[in-house]
Amino acid sequence: MSSELASDHIKKVYQSVKKRNPNEDEFHQAVEEFFNSIEPVFEQNPSYIEQGILERLVEPDRLITFSVPWVDDNGKVQVNRGFRVQFNSTIGPYKGGLRFHPSVNSSIIKFLGFEQIFKNALTGQPIGGGKGGSDFDPKGKSDLEIMRFCQSFMSELSKYIGPDIDVPAGDIGVGAREIGYLFGQYRKMRGSFHAGVLTGKSPDFGGSLARKEATGYGTVYFVNEMLKDRNLDLTGKKVIVSGSGNVSIYAMEKAIEYGAIIIACSDSSGYIYDPNGLDLNTIKEIKEVKRGRIHAYLEKYPNAKFEAESTAIWSLSCDIALPCATQNELDESAAKQLVKNGVVAIAEGANMPSTLDAIKVFHDNNVLFGPAKAANAGGVAVSALEMAQNSSRLSWSFEEVDQKLQDIMADIYNRCIEAAEQYNSPGNLVVGANIAGLLRVAEGMITQGVI
Ligand code: GLU
Repeated sequence: MSSELASDHIKKVYQSVKKRNPNEDEFHQAVEEFFNSIEPVFEQNPSYIEQGILERLVEPDRLITFSVPWVDDNGKVQVNRGFRVQFNSTIGPYKGGLRFHPSVNSSIIKFLGFEQIFKNALTGQPIGGGKGGSDFDPKGKSDLEIMRFCQSFMSELSKYIGPDIDVPAGDIGVGAREIGYLFGQYRKMRGSFHAGVLTGKSPDFGGSLARKEATGYGTVYFVNEMLKDRNLDLTGKKVIVSGSGNVSIYAMEKAIEYGAIIIACSDSSGYIYDPNGLDLNTIKEIKEVKRGRIHAYLEKYPNAKFEAESTAIWSLSCDIALPCATQNELDESAAKQLVKNGVVAIAEGANMPSTLDAIKVFHDNNVLFGPAKAANAGGVAVSALEMAQNSSRLSWSFEEVDQKLQDIMADIYNRCIEAAEQYNSPGNLVVGANIAGLLRVAEGMITQGVI
C-alpha cells in the first residue's frame, strides 16, 4: 500500500479520537505517540485498515465510572469518583493497576489503559489492557479512612472484575496496604477466596515474591540491556531517579546493586541531592515506614541539599535519568538540559513521564531512550506471574521470580530492537515497542474475528 494511504488513514483515526474524546489531552498524547510509530505496519499490512484495527483499539470495550461514598474520621460523608476502563481483552483478561490521586479523571485513566494494552502484549504474557482508580487523595488520610474508602470502592468494582475477567493491581497511591483492604472486601462480597482477582497482594495470602520490587528492578534490567548494546554498564554511573515511591525505590536499589551512584530523588514537594550518593535505607524508612516527605532526609544528612521544586531535578548533571514519578514530568527544556549535561540513557519507570517534545530531543541527540511501555513492563509481567502462581496454587521463590523477570525484560528489549529494525527505525525503542505490541494484539484480533 502507498504510504500516503496509510498515513491518511492514521490521521483520520487520530482526528476522530480527538473529536470523540474532547479535552482528554493525556489520552490524545498517548494515542499520538503510538500512531507516530505505526505507519510502516499499515503500509505492509493493508488488511489492517479494512479490519478497522485502529478504530477498534482506540475505543475501550467499556469505561465504568461510579460513585465512592465513604465516611471520614469526623463522621462527614465524602464522595469520590471511581473508574475502571476495560480497554482490550484480545490476549487475556483485562489487566492493569488502580491509581488513587486527585488528578485522576477519564483522560488519565484512558491514557494509562491504552498504554497498558501494548505494554502487556510486550511482556509475552496472556494479559489484556485495563486501568482504573479514583480522584481520592490518600495523602494525609488515616489508616481507617483508607480502609473505608477501599471498601466502598471495591463494593462497586467487584461487580466488574474476576480472575478471568479483569485483574486490578496497584499504581500511584495504591500499594500493599490498599490491595489488602480491597482484597478483603472482594472476598467478603463474593463469599469465596479468588486469589487471582488482584495482584500485588501480600505474600501471606497469594502475593508473589518480588512483585513489590518488579517494576523498579525491571526498569534497571532494561537499562542494562540498552547499555550493553553500547558496551557500557552501570558501574560508577551517576543516576537521577525522580519520585520516591515503589517504582523509584526499587529502581534505586537495583541500580546501587549494579554499582551506580544515586545522586538525587524526589517527591511532589521537591528533590534531595547528594553528589556522593544517597542512602537508600533512610529513604525507605521515610517513605515506606513513616509515609513522610522527602525533605526529612536532611534530618539525618544535613549536608544533602533539598530543592522545593521536584521537576528541577532534571537540571542536575547525570549519566542516566530514570523518570519514575508521573506523566509529563520531563518536558522539552528538561530534556535539553539533560542532553547538555551529557546524559547517556533514559528509561521511563513511570507511565508517559516524557512529553513528545522531550522524546524528540533524546532521539535527535542519540541518547538511549527506553519508553515506559517497555522499560516499566516488569511490574505487570510479575503480576502475570502472580496470576500463574494463584491458578496453580503454588508460590515460587524470590530468586525464581526475579530470574523470570530478568529473562522477560531481556525478551522485551529484543522484541523492541527487532521490530524497530524490521520496520526501518533501527535502535528506536519507541517505534519498536509500539510496533511489537501492536502486532501481537492485531494478529489476535484478526484471528478471533470482529466481535
Ligand atoms: N500499574 C502498573 C503498570 O503501570 C502495574 C499494573 C499491574 O501489575 O497490573 O503497569
